Amino acid sequence: MDEVFESLMTVFLAQIDSAMSISEILSEHAGEKEMTPDALITGLVYRLMTPMEEDEMQGALTKGKDMVDRLCSPDSDSNDEEEEDTSDEVEDPIERVIERNTCTCAICTTARTCLLNYRTHETQDPLSEKFHNAIEHACSTHKLLIQ
Ligand SMILES: [Zn+2]
Repeated sequence: MDEVFESLMTVFLAQIDSAMSISEILSEHAGEKEMTPDALITGLVYRLMTPMEEDEMQGALTKGKDMVDRLCSPDSDSNDEEEEDTSDEVEDPIERVIERNTCTCAICTTARTCLLNYRTHETQDPLSEKFHNAIEHACSTHKLLIQ
């Protein structure tokens, strides 16, 4: 794998990872036992539109690097378990507007603002573009509308 691609991939995964921790918070604050696609996607939107702080970025990059290393080592041991999941396909979901929680903490409030502004947000670099595409893909998979 060439270095430019590898570092792009690292940042991308770092952002995904950071988005996941936002999603967890959103889900927790909504009182959900399991994370919903709504919380998941909102976390991604939050991360797309709210740049990471410098120190946050450093921590996330280390994790991203780990993930790239794992993805690139052919003898990773986590392969077996993941294949099983393909059988429980999600049934055709009905299209609906993404759900928000009503929590008033800073993260949840910012997340709701991000959802509101998502449609007018313009991606400025290839990486954000990629991130944006991932969000679009997740939305169409779960038939969720960001409005
Ligand atoms: Zn909250």
